Amino acid sequence: MATLEIKDLHADVVTDEGNKPILNGVNLTIRSGETHAIMGPNGSGKSTLSYAIAGHPKYEVTSGEVLLDGENVLEMSVDERARAGLFLAMQYPVEVPGVSMSNFLRSAATAVRGEAPKLRHWVKEVKDEMSQLDISSEFAERSVNEGFSGGEKKRHEILQLALLKPKFAILDETDSGLDVDALRTVSEAVNDYKSNNEVGVMLITHYTRILKHIEPDFVHVFAGGKVVQSGGKELADELEADGYVKYTTEAAV
Ligand code: ADP
Ligand code: MG
Ligand code: MG
Repeated sequence: MATLEIKDLHADVVTDEGNKPILNGVNLTIRSGETHAIMGPNGSGKSTLSYAIAGHPKYEVTSGEVLLDGENVLEMSVDERARAGLFLAMQYPVEVPGVSMSNFLRSAATAVRGEAPKLRHWVKEVKDEMSQLDISSEFAERSVNEGFSGGEKKRHEILQLALLKPKFAILDETDSGLDVDALRTVSEAVNDYKSNNEVGVMLITHYTRILKHIEPDFVHVFAGGKVVQSGGKELADELEADGYVKYTTEAAV
């Protein structure tokens, strides 16, 4: 049983024109086994939250805490965060020309596990997960995300999740750009991972449609750089019906 605690987190995005405050006191606790949906309007800081937790250099935490089982995540390097069990599926996965998917995945697994996975076992593991995600085997030799469609990139993010086996997974709009079939495939892979591992999931999304596949235990409204309302599944239905207006006007004060 693991716990990820975000306490009064404030963070800036670092731009050429200087720092711009985005996170404005985020409080959220996620325990293993729980799925938390984060829903909020464009520009409210959801991706900033995920980057701040993952340790992206363009985001600077100015105050507050992120604790994984009481350990200060903010003092860890990006690699240490991954080894501690944090995983981020990015909203916009980056392309890495010249590095094959298969090399990338093996290096990432080696870094996270602390030793290189045994080759025969690894090859089978990758093959099984790729087939579950309907990823054709030719992708193994292609450069990371280069020329991948939006949906292909998202499938590969979930392939990494399945192989790296984190304790906490942040899925930043993994559903956007997926057609109905891809959404089902990706959701099944996430659910499969959830049922076989004690994982805490932070599922950032705009749409309730993914929540029909991946059932959240909690739903949080994110507006103006913080969590402004928390509830159960019914909150997602309310948001779908009424939008965020009620929350954005409150947060804008
Ligand atoms: P969300 O994921 O909720 O749509 P983001 O965290 O991506 O929101 O962005 C929050 C705010 O920070 C937005 O107003 C966005 O324009 C701004 N922002 C994010 N990254 C940068 C950047 N690199 N330069 C300038 N502004 C940025
Ligand atoms: Mg975003
Ligand atoms: Mg599996």
